[in-house]
This record gives sequence, structure tokens and C-alpha cells, in this order.
Amino acid sequence: MLLLGGTREARDLARIMSGEQGFEIVSSLAGRVRAPLLPEGAVRVGGFGGAEGLRAWIADNEVRAVVDATHPFATAISANAVAAARASDVPLVCLRRPSWPQQPGDRWVRATDLAAAAQVTATLGERVFLTIGRQGVDAFAKQDRQWFLIRAIDPPAGPVPPRHEILLARGPFALAAESRLIADYGIDVLVTKDSGGDQTEAKLVAARAAGIPVVVIDRPPVPEGVLVVETVAQVMDWLHQVRTDRGCG
Ligand code: NAP
Repeated sequence: MLLLGGTREARDLARIMSGEQGFEIVSSLAGRVRAPLLPEGAVRVGGFGGAEGLRAWIADNEVRAVVDATHPFATAISANAVAAARASDVPLVCLRRPSWPQQPGDRWVRATDLAAAAQVTATLGERVFLTIGRQGVDAFAKQDRQWFLIRAIDPPAGPVPPRHEILLARGPFALAAESRLIADYGIDVLVTKDSGGDQTEAKLVAARAAGIPVVVIDRPPVPEGVLVVETVAQVMDWLHQVRTDRGCG
């Protein structure tokens, strides 16, 4: 099994599958983060070289099933996984944790992409808490009127807004600490991807409690025709079924 990872769910899957007889798994990480949290079991790091490189890797390593447990915003690898799995006639499942549901009291403004988020953020506040990770910060780089608190695991590589502070941190984040950040930095607007998951959800609760608006960037669509599940347990059920159907392991 090839497990495309870089998420908490992928690490959970690697741990569970490592403990099950009859599964041989390799987790794959892009290698973006300088000190990644490594999953249990075998791990490979780095790009495959597009869909064709991934197809060749699947063939060379006799992969019998692919689990795409990458982040909902990692669109290129998910598209490559679909193309490569189809070309290899290998079954694929895509694990996408559910989106965060909007709650009473939330002041959410939806944005279709990073550029739209930057535009609408400019109208909503002066002190922005930017929690979109390291990639995509350049979409906000021309905004010189606002001040930004940019939180990411590693520093952004590209252009950043002129007035900013970078906060290097890795989730999970606790509610009390998120509320303190909002208060201490005088944050009046939060920007987030619709990542979902409980590791980074506290900022939304803190924003609700503080009464500040949140710009929520919509997820890109999952490639068409792909089986999508929402939980680690559903992936395990699927893998057991694939093993039965195809005589894997
Ligand atoms: P992306 O735009 O979809 O991928 C760009 C390229 O990076 C891919 O074409 C592929 O290179 C390589 N790649 C991505 N994920 C890979 C993986 N798991 N194993 C091997 N190669 C991979 O991805 P991204 O948004 O940069 O995300 C990179 C990684 O960070 C993903 O594993 C994702 O789960 C994780 N992550 C992303 C976000 C986010 O907001 N985007 C947040 C948290 C974690 P080749 O074409 O050369 O194969």
C-alpha cells in the first residue's frame, strides 16, 4: 500500500496499518517541512516527478492500493494520484476529513481562493492573523495597509506583506492560547483555509468568542470519479475489502 501523507490522519493510518498483519505500507511525504513528524513504518520523502513518476513508482514497488491521505489543499499530488492509479489499474481511495461546520455566532466570510481571500481581508480589519501555512502567503504580500501575524511551521519562502511578524508553531493549538494570541496582538480578522480537523479548530472558537470575522478559504474540489471517505476507519474498511477482492497481502 502506498500512503500519501503529510497529515495527522495519514500518521494515524500508518500506525494502525503497521500493527495489522498482511499490510505492507510505505508512507510518502513531500519533504516540504524541515523537521516533519514521521509516521510509523517505512517512509519515503520527496516528489515522484509528476503523475508519470508516480505511476512508475507504483509499478516498481508493486503497489496494490493507494491511499491519498494528503491535506485537502494539496491538489497537485491528489490529481497525480488519480492519474497514476488509473494508469496502473490500482484502486485508490481519497481520505478527506470533513470541513469545519459554521456555528451560531461565527462571522465567517467565504473566499473561493487565496486571491479572493486577500481582497476581502483588506476590507475586514487592520490586524490580520494569517493561518494558511507557509504556502500562499505571497497572495497577501502587496497589502501594506494591514499588519499580519503569520503563523506557519516553517517560514514562508516567497514574498510576505511588509508589516508582519512570523510565528513559527505546529499544532495542535489549545483554545486558551489562541484566545490569548488574538487578545495580545489585537487581532481583528482571522484568515484560514477550510482545512477541517480538530488540531487547528480552536482558532475558530477563539475568533467566535472574540467576535472577530474569519475569512474561510474554500477547499478545491476533489478530482472527479474518486472514492472519497471521511474517516480513518472507513479507509481501513476499504483496505480490508481491497485485500479480499484482489488477494493483496
Ligand atoms: P501539492 O501542491 O499537491 O503537491 C506539489 C508537489 O509536491 C506534487 O506534485 C508532488 O511532487 C509533491 N508532493 C506533494 N505531496 C506529496 C507526498 N505526500 N508525497 C510525495 N510527493 C508529494 O502539495 P502541497 O500543498 O505542497 O502539500 C505538500 C504536502 O504537505 C502534502 O503531503 C500535504 O499532505 C502536506 N500538507 C499540505 C498543506 C497545505 O495547506 N497544502 C497543509 C498541511 C500539510 P511530484 O509531482 O514531483 O510528485
